[in-house]
Amino acid sequence: MCLICERIEMIKKGANPYFVKELETGYVVIGDNQHFYGYTLFLYKHHEEKTELFHLDLSERAKFLEEMTIVAEAVSKAFGAEKINYELLGMGDSHLHWHLFPRVSGDIENYGNNGRGPVWWYPMEKMYSDDSRPGEEELADIKRKLLDELEKLL
Ligand SMILES: [Zn+2]
Repeated sequence: MCLICERIEMIKKGANPYFVKELETGYVVIGDNQHFYGYTLFLYKHHEEKTELFHLDLSERAKFLEEMTIVAEAVSKAFGAEKINYELLGMGDSHLHWHLFPRVSGDIENYGNNGRGPVWWYPMEKMYSDDSRPGEEELADIKRKLLDELEKLL
C-alpha cells in the first residue's frame, strides 16, 4: 500500500491528526511540516491505475480540479498567501495528490534566484526539519483556520 493510501486509511479510522475535510473526490490534509505556513495537500480518493489527470474521465477530472481550486482559495484566505503554488508530482508516490503551498515574500530566504523561485529551491533538510512540525495546539489552530474558510466556500 502506498504512503498516501495508508494516510487515507488512517483518515477512515479517525486516526489521522492532519485530516481537515472530506470532499467528493478527495481528502484535505495539512502538511506534516509547516515551514510554508498553511501548506496543505488534497489527496485523490482513488489510486489503482489512475495516476495521471488524463486517466480520469472528463467529469471526474473536472470535479477533482474544481475541488482542488476551492481548497486552494481557502488556503489562500486562511493563511494570507501572496500566491498559491500548485504541484502535482508523483515520483515519490504516484497516487494523485496536490501540494498547495501558500507563498509569501522571503519564505525561501535568499535561496533560489535571490529569494525568488519555487519551494523546491529551499533546502529539503530545512523544509522538512523537526522545527517546522507544528505542535498539537498549533496544528489544531491551522486546521480550524482552514476549515473555517473551506466551509464558507462549499
Ligand atoms: Zn495510493
